Amino acid sequence: SAIVRRFRESNRKSAEHEQRARKVVPGGTSRATMLQKPFPVYLADARGASVWDLDGNERLDFNNNMLAMIHGHGHPEVVAAVKAQLERTSAFTSVSEREAELAETLCGRVASIDKVTFDNSGTEAVMMAIRLARAYTGRTRILRFEGGYHGFYDPVITGSFSNPPVDAPHDPHPPVRDMAGMPPGVTEDAVLVPYNDAEAVRRVFREQGERLAAVIVEPMLGGGGMIPGLPDFLRTIREESAKTGTVMICDEVITLRFATGGAQEVYGLAPDLTTMGKIIGGGYPVGAVGGRAEIMDLCRPADEGGAVMTMGTFNSNPVTVTAGLATLKLLDKAAIDRLNGLGDRLRKGLSDCIEKRQVPARVTGAASCFDIHFTRREINNARDVATDDEALQQVCSLGLANRGILVSKSRKGGLSTVMDEGIIDRAVEAFDDTLTEMTA
Ligand code: PLP
Repeated sequence: SAIVRRFRESNRKSAEHEQRARKVVPGGTSRATMLQKPFPVYLADARGASVWDLDGNERLDFNNNMLAMIHGHGHPEVVAAVKAQLERTSAFTSVSEREAELAETLCGRVASIDKVTFDNSGTEAVMMAIRLARAYTGRTRILRFEGGYHGFYDPVITGSFSNPPVDAPHDPHPPVRDMAGMPPGVTEDAVLVPYNDAEAVRRVFREQGERLAAVIVEPMLGGGGMIPGLPDFLRTIREESAKTGTVMICDEVITLRFATGGAQEVYGLAPDLTTMGKIIGGGYPVGAVGGRAEIMDLCRPADEGGAVMTMGTFNSNPVTVTAGLATLKLLDKAAIDRLNGLGDRLRKGLSDCIEKRQVPARVTGAASCFDIHFTRREINNARDVATDDEALQQVCSLGLANRGILVSKSRKGGLSTVMDEGIIDRAVEAFDDTLTEMTA
């Protein structure tokens, strides 16, 4: 189509670079979530709300490194803090005092968190949380939700990226698809039910609550389509898990940006454990688990009664925690309220374009997050997302890229505090023009 042709013409250097990259990196990139077809856009530079690719195209960054760069690129206050740390070192042999400072900050912001332990990615944080839950309960099964994404650790990946068709019967142990290399027990210990289905939650707890070590849930399905959780659904999870002594893990790797106390503050939830990542590292690799002291203390040293191992050469890295502290300091309630206001403006603008043109599409999201689905169906869970037209999604992403707007290949995104109303309106206009071109 004209959209793909134009994309190819204005991204020749990325196309060329892909040939070189493919020789040494499978698929040409390890960032499979970003624009990948017909070839990845390789980036060379970034500043504030903009990124530049190898061909010199400037685009407004509506993805912000999968929602990790909440203040955009190279925020002066974050850069100054990091520079001062870098001049000392990027990693100490022993621990920097800033680790406890960042932990204090998180405990101060999120009501359910008494203690925190750090690692290097959201995936590792989830791995730790699950290990803690299994150690605490002596059980192995983990309840999750269709379409949930919690990183690429075996026990939480089965069924991800394979949304069941709308009418498919409920399969609590879905087969592992394109997830070769995992041992067979992995599917057995993973129990899945549809997202936003409180009745399914009650049923599964009634049938096997006593066998569930943990239930892990995103307050808003992020990678699965930016679908906000229904309050009753999340409340039911809290109530049912409390009854059976199952550890409730709230995965706030994306949603911590909803409020100073995360999405759990917005919903009035008090999970046992919370997994975090992305924004708390200020743009550097990070993950963290926080929660009730009684559970968290299981990862004390063994000679103090701890039973769960936690290690990592780069855990609580001084550059990461310095950047994280600077980032959270800038992210007070006023900054979050302003950012969420921009999110409302964007979602409304995009929805208005869809309505005006009567195209079969839907905008989802909450706070400063958004997603665009190409389906007529109201989107409440992964089964609804399965009705998305992937070809249209792909063309839409490229149409936006042609007009200077960068989103992921599934058009998911998150805003940054360096954006303003003018920037939001430019994205809406680009979407409107893209729809015109798509429907021409
Ligand atoms: N949990 C959620 C909710 C996520 O969205 C992600 C990543 O997008 C992760 C966990 C995994 O984090 P990471 O990519 O840092 O491993």
